[in-house]
Formats: sequence, C-alpha cells, structure tokens
Amino acid sequence: MGSARCGRFGWLKVVININSFLNQRLAGAFSIAEIALTDDPLADALGREAVAQTRILGRELRLVIRSGLPERELSITLYHEILEAATVASSHPPQSVLGLNEAGFEAAAQRAHETWGEASVENLNRMLQFHGFRGQ
Ligand SMILES: [Zn+2]
Repeated sequence: MGSARCGRFGWLKVVININSFLNQRLAGAFSIAEIALTDDPLADALGREAVAQTRILGRELRLVIRSGLPERELSITLYHEILEAATVASSHPPQSVLGLNEAGFEAAAQRAHETWGEASVENLNRMLQFHGFRGQ
C-alpha cells in the first residue's frame, strides 16, 4: 500500500462505474439495459474467445463483460460493443460504419478512447454521433 494520498488519487483517477450506463438513452435511440461481469469464458459469434458479448433486444442492449479487465480495456470494450451493437441493430446504419468488421470496430473503439477518454454515457454518445448515429 502507498501513502493515503496516493491511494486516494488512485481511487479518484479512473473507476468506470458500470451502473452509470444503465437505462440512459444513447444516440441512435438505444439504451443499455444490463451490464453483467462474468468470470466464465466468452466467445464471439464465430466461437473465438471474446472479452464481451452483447445481446440486442429491440432497442435494448444487454452486455456481458469478462470481469477484472484493466480500466483501459474495459473502456475500449464498452466503446467497441456499443458501436458494433448500434450498427447491427440499426435498420439503416450510417455509411461510416457499414463496412466495419471486427478489427474495424476495435480500431474505432481505440480511437474513441484516445480521443474522448474513459467510456461514459456522454463519450459513447460523442462516438455514436461522430459516426453519424442521430437521435436520443
Ligand atoms: Zn466486436
């Protein structure tokens, strides 16, 4: 343990509060209904190991994310899952995301994290609007 001051600084610096994302309207008229953390292995649609899975039910997104991810990876994972889910769930996704594959979503998520910082509802909306999703 470091000094009390270092500990407090560390606590204040970066803690993504999962609950702050729930039931907030996102650009593209989606919301996140659930974020669950799990220790179980996750796989993507092709059976490859994944850090997250997102189910889309109407306009609601339900995420499962591997627990214990470093803060930066959790942030990028949230950007990635939300951009990908918004694209898949839209009947007419914006041109800028139409051609993205898994690597493309990951690159866009990393750019979002570098540009706007830790994922938050506001920053997810910045990313969605940057890519052309409209409406609250
Ligand atoms: Zn993905």
